[in-house]
Amino acid sequence: TPTIGVLALQGDVREHAGALERAGARAVPVRRRSELAAVDGLVLPGGESTTIDKLLRIFELDEPLRTLVAGGLPVYGSCAGMILLADHIEAGIEGQRTLGGMDVVVRRNAFGRQVDSFEADLDVAGISDQPGGAPVRTVFIRAPWIEQAGPGVEVLARIPARATDGSPVRVGAGKIVAARQGRLLATSFHPEITGDARVHALFVRMVAAG
Ligand code: GLN
Repeated sequence: TPTIGVLALQGDVREHAGALERAGARAVPVRRRSELAAVDGLVLPGGESTTIDKLLRIFELDEPLRTLVAGGLPVYGSCAGMILLADHIEAGIEGQRTLGGMDVVVRRNAFGRQVDSFEADLDVAGISDQPGGAPVRTVFIRAPWIEQAGPGVEVLARIPARATDGSPVRVGAGKIVAARQGRLLATSFHPEITGDARVHALFVRMVAAG
């Protein structure tokens, strides 16, 4: 059973831990550098990326995490966590840094005010394309999207042109909202709040594969 840490500075820590356990992992909160040594993988929950960036520096977790990511630690970032994994950020605040690791340009708060929050049923590669797999119900909360992805990035999901009810999607159609590069996984959405642990299970498989 892999042990997967959940960065516990801000965000849905308990929900991520629950989903990881349902997906067959052991989940532990991570707040200190010393706790990083005990994990086989790490989840970066959503929240406010600018705040998490500051807290990472205050708790002196930023440099150790950059080193671990560069060394191949599997990391899954959701929403603000996706921003933290991006090499480049658009619409960040001045001085905002990321951990980086994924060759993507991420746009913060990309969906704009009119669609602060929404849900969608998405086809996610590696999940809904499996035998018997259904689309993944996803929840977006002031979410980022991936504006550009380098050649080493595998696109797992995009915003469809039409919503589940058939109406055209006005903002973000075609934008990348789930991606993988090596041992890094990122989603714009929050899978921890829907009760569907399939995204976490995908990450647990990545961790277990070593
Ligand atoms: N808008 C937030 C940010 O920029 C992300 C929101 C979220 O994680 N739900 O960090």
